[in-house]
Amino acid sequence: MATIARRGILFIVSGPSGAGKTTLSDAVLRVFEDLELSVSYTTRAPRGEEIDGVDYRFVDRERFDAMLAAGDLAEWAEVHAHRYGTPRQPLERAVAEGRDILLDIDVQGARKIKELFPDAVSVFLLPPDRATLAGRLRGRGTDDDATVSRRLQNACREIASAPDYDFLIVNVDRAAAAAEFEAIVRGERRRVARMRQDVLAAFVRRFETEP
Ligand code: 5GP
Repeated sequence: MATIARRGILFIVSGPSGAGKTTLSDAVLRVFEDLELSVSYTTRAPRGEEIDGVDYRFVDRERFDAMLAAGDLAEWAEVHAHRYGTPRQPLERAVAEGRDILLDIDVQGARKIKELFPDAVSVFLLPPDRATLAGRLRGRGTDDDATVSRRLQNACREIASAPDYDFLIVNVDRAAAAAEFEAIVRGERRRVARMRQDVLAAFVRRFETEP
């Protein structure tokens, strides 16, 4: 059976730095070849092995503000003293064309995307506890002490927004967390409300009329 045409879904994943969002996103993107990552614009410098155009689009403040003024960003936020924004057009196009997008954005961005796209699905990833989170932030080794403590403070603020999300995943075990995210994707893809009602009606009618 062919699947019934539907609108594309925006899957938002938020959670404090160090909760494991990048690892989780990578795992889910590997499982679903037809799930695309929304590549944000940011004014922060590339970290480690990040690649421009793949992990982020790294731009200077001038370019970022020009995009903002032109209305090219669906949402933007200042996180850890840098600006981050989601390009609008790829989202609108994906929803219309039935393609699904994964957005790794902070709680402010998630709120804005939910306003613009009420059918978006939001998932909050929680670290098991504060000590684990601090350990993960330090273990990354790419940030200095001041950055780590700023991120920890910010983490506590972000976690306060967890109850506003559609789904919550506690990241105790990487594979288990990925499996839970996968289940959410599979489930949301089967929602009748997202399906093209004319295609669905024609599909159902065929059962009555075909020999
Ligand atoms: P990082 O600098 O560690 O890659 O990301 C810092 C935070 O910014 C993360 O919480 C990430 O989810 C968030 N972020 C990344 N891109 C965007 C974006 O386009 N919009 C918003 N609102 N947050 C973003």
